[in-house]
Amino acid sequence: MSRLSPARSVALPSALRAGIESAVGPKGWTDAPDEMAPHLVDLRGLYRGRAALLVRPGSAAEVAEVVRLCAAARVPIVPQGGNTGLVGGATPHEHGGEILLSLARLDRIRSIDALDYTMTVEAGCILRRVQEAAAAADRLFPLSLGAEGSCQIGGNLSTNAGGIAVLRYGNARELVLGLEVVLPDGRIWDGLRSLRKDNTGYDLKQLFIGAEGTLGIITAAVLKLFPRPHERITAFAAIDALPAALELLSRCRTASGDAVTSFELIPRLGLDLALRHVAGTTDPLAGRHAHYLLIELSASAPGSGLRERLEGLLAQAMADGLVRDATLADSEAASRRLWRVREAIVEGERAEGASVKHDVSVPVSRVPRFIELASRRVEDALPGVRPMAFGHLGDGNVHFNLIQPAGADPRAFLDRREALSRIVHDTAVELGGSISAEHGLGRLKRDEIRRYKPAVELDMMRRIKAALDPDDIMNPGKVV
Ligand code: FAD
Repeated sequence: MSRLSPARSVALPSALRAGIESAVGPKGWTDAPDEMAPHLVDLRGLYRGRAALLVRPGSAAEVAEVVRLCAAARVPIVPQGGNTGLVGGATPHEHGGEILLSLARLDRIRSIDALDYTMTVEAGCILRRVQEAAAAADRLFPLSLGAEGSCQIGGNLSTNAGGIAVLRYGNARELVLGLEVVLPDGRIWDGLRSLRKDNTGYDLKQLFIGAEGTLGIITAAVLKLFPRPHERITAFAAIDALPAALELLSRCRTASGDAVTSFELIPRLGLDLALRHVAGTTDPLAGRHAHYLLIELSASAPGSGLRERLEGLLAQAMADGLVRDATLADSEAASRRLWRVREAIVEGERAEGASVKHDVSVPVSRVPRFIELASRRVEDALPGVRPMAFGHLGDGNVHFNLIQPAGADPRAFLDRREALSRIVHDTAVELGGSISAEHGLGRLKRDEIRRYKPAVELDMMRRIKAALDPDDIMNPGKVV
């Protein structure tokens, strides 16, 4: 982690600077400290960097020209989308010799093809705008996450974002048919195909998805669309023990014809923190239970009968002793109140004191074992620490956050961060899991991953990076 240092630009070679200024025009660059400042720090305040210039090209051709000029001068580039990433990937380094390239002005929805179920969008489109444009054409773009009002589709693809509908529709990676990318030498690769089938060699677009800007700059994408759901059923169910969640998930998937969109875990501690610290949250059920599940099913055809099926399924699960209590939202407002509980966990956690966060995944069937084992190990290491596992249980992805012991000194707790994270990551990997399910590696986990990825895998990653970006100008020092 870096020391905080004031934002200021350092001089670029004058010919390069003049070339960039003329390539992007007066609207396309700035070195004004106040304009640059919000771009130089990551959302969690873990990193604060400097940059020689903030460049905001207005087209893929302008991006290509900037990259070509930088490549010739060997000046590195940090691509930046909405700057909502959680691993420092979009923050420039402290030395100040990089160009920060914002995609914000590439914000056109180029086309929507309802018959093909596709849309072609530029990288700087805000995710919510993409969702709204799809909905206006009676289609669904299913990627959905907490930051959707400010993250950009280019950032979503570059981090292979997950979110709350992965169970049904997959990660960002599975929602793309084609890409347009500016390569590290400044060439434009036009891979904007909308084909469902294309077996003509390596699937190159997948290299750039999840690459966190280290292999090239995504300037546009062809996205997959789906029928728009006309029915959404939200339920909140209490269980005593985590294995019951797996059985319930399995029953929900089978009984609904795999219409489960979300299956989120909320522990009692999370609910307590939300109720304690976040105004407007209410306990959806009477009585205290160890764990809760927020379940959402959706259907594109009205009159699908999903509601009745979920009601019947939950009644049977209660009769079987699997579920202790449950409620179904009977209106859009009631559904929003249930989701509010899920969203309020993070706010509640923040208000409770210092926490150490982990974004791990394991095979779905091992989530209960992971939570039990990791909780026991961190509690042995630091008595009083409060593990809180919540999130996308249906994807095997829990946010396993550790909240400081009540009344402890937050700084003393955070001093134990590395040792505690090591326990959590070791446990996830021991169970066949990953230390980064959603957020990527960026700078935060770049070194940590070397402990866990097989040497042959790291070697392949480095070779791909060297093949596409031999001069290491594309977001250097991130991922590999
Ligand atoms: P940025 O933060 O700007 O950049 C992220 C990385 O991508 C950087 O390495 C950057 O260099 C690179 N990059 C950005 N744009 C491009 C481009 N066009 N071409 C090449 N490289 C590029 N993430 C999830 O996966 N699931 C969640 O549920 C989730 N929930 C979140 C909730 C909140 C409240 C917040 C704040 C964040 C959440 N995130 C989540 C993390 C974050 O929102 C995602 O990682 C998001 O996809 C980042 O998009 P962005 O446009 O902000 O990218």
